[in-house]
Amino acid sequence: MSSQLSHIPERRHDVVVIGGGSAGYAAARTARDAGADVAIVDQGPLGGLCILRGCMPTKTILRSAEIMALMKRAREFGLTSVTAQADLSAIVDRKNRLVQEFADYRIAALRDPRFTLYESRAEFLSPHELRAGDVRIRGGAFIIATGSSAAEVAIPGLDEAGYLTSDEMLDVRRQPASLLVLGGGLVAVEFAQFFARIGTKVTMLQRGTTLLSDMDEDIGQALAAAFRDEGIEVMTGVSVQCVTSGSSEKTVHFVQGGVVHTRSAEVIFQALGRRPNLNGLNPEAAGVQVIDGRLVVGADMRTSQPHIFAVGDVNDLTPIVHLAIQQGETAGFNATHPNKPARVIDHRLDSEVVFTEPQVAAAGMSERLCRGAAIPYLTASYPFADHGKAMCLGAAHGFVKLLCCPDDGALLGAQIVGPEAGELIHELIAVMYFRGTAHDLLRIPHYHPTLAEIVTYPAESIVEQMGRA
Ligand SMILES: Cc1cc2nc3c(=O)[nH]c(=O)nc-3n(C[C@H](O)[C@H](O)[C@H](O)COP(=O)(O)OP(=O)(O)OC[C@H]3O[C@@H](n4cnc5c(N)ncnc54)[C@H](O)[C@@H]3O)c2cc1C
Repeated sequence: MSSQLSHIPERRHDVVVIGGGSAGYAAARTARDAGADVAIVDQGPLGGLCILRGCMPTKTILRSAEIMALMKRAREFGLTSVTAQADLSAIVDRKNRLVQEFADYRIAALRDPRFTLYESRAEFLSPHELRAGDVRIRGGAFIIATGSSAAEVAIPGLDEAGYLTSDEMLDVRRQPASLLVLGGGLVAVEFAQFFARIGTKVTMLQRGTTLLSDMDEDIGQALAAAFRDEGIEVMTGVSVQCVTSGSSEKTVHFVQGGVVHTRSAEVIFQALGRRPNLNGLNPEAAGVQVIDGRLVVGADMRTSQPHIFAVGDVNDLTPIVHLAIQQGETAGFNATHPNKPARVIDHRLDSEVVFTEPQVAAAGMSERLCRGAAIPYLTASYPFADHGKAMCLGAAHGFVKLLCCPDDGALLGAQIVGPEAGELIHELIAVMYFRGTAHDLLRIPHYHPTLAEIVTYPAESIVEQMGRA
């Protein structure tokens, strides 16, 4: 310890969790329930990304856009049309009220006297000690859960022209007339549809060949088709060259198919990804391995230092909340049960939901993953446009796709683009959890007419393919 720090008071805890978001809180709660003396260090604002600037605020504002889109379709359903007008400032007010409610609940949980909460930035001094404001904390184990922040990207002229990230987009109160969205991932598509639906002219510029390019191509294509029907301009396979700005608009210069194009808008939304938060944490002093700016962990969530764990967005494995919680619980258990076999993360049931309309949901293996790992599969899909309940709802975009093992029909993965995909995927996750098959999907009773019964059609097709094999 440096002599400068020797005067700083020292505390000791069994487990020190750095970051009180979804991953950190789950880790802290698990370690505390195992009987450990647990400290949480969080620099604030308390609440975590999911509640303050991620899942919950976006889902709140998307609900307003969804209602607006339905109102605009009134005549299609035999209703007198109404003039739907968005009041973005009121939408932001509603979002803020709900976020405050969710945050208050989390803050109360963090301030539970069964934890010791240090509201300061943590900085490692050594593998066994960190500094949090005016205290030094020694820990038996450390769990790093410091999350992520919007990535900075090197596009010539972008900084000078100015742009917003998802953090700022959530607080925009004056609706822009036009918006250029850089990126085509989960965050990009949700905001793009929100703004388009409340009346902003939206153009998406995506480098990949489809939207949601981490998923199978047919998913991004189906979503792009729905977006185009709503008037969103979706340009894929785009290479952004530079950004310039005039008095009222910013212009993005890009190449698509060898041709130079430009698009101009009032606001640029930079949604090109997030980076793990290691700023000021000084992981070098802890001696943990960092590759490409992310903490490297094994399936037991341990870093290269066996008593230091890293969970949630900071390890950049699966930046999804329920998976961050799973990682936190795994680390919390392993940190407090050194003599028991380590718990490990199993990615078999990993899932992701995108809350656009149509929603997108994927669980387990994709065709791309199967091909990459040379795993044989049978696949079948069925469109919502031919499904009775979806037709009643007027929700015709998208499909359900199943991937099954050719030998026994075991469900390997499922993808849904369509109404309530985020809810429907859970039946398929449950079937996969119990290692069920396409045959099981046919045997499980499905009420009629429901969206859920659509899964029986691709299941039937897979059983037929197995019969032919
Ligand atoms: C716009 C948007 C929408 C999203 N929507 C969804 C969704 O619908 N569903 C979904 O599953 N996921 C969604 N996500 C992703 C999800 O929000 C994150 O994966 C998740 O919240 C990460 O949790 P975490 O615990 O790793 O980090 P965080 O919740 O960010 O927690 C990190 C904590 O660490 C603290 N901290 C950071 N550095 C230090 C330090 N040096 N010292 C002390 N404290 C520190 C911070 O104050 C913070 O409280 C969305 C993300 C975004 C940006």
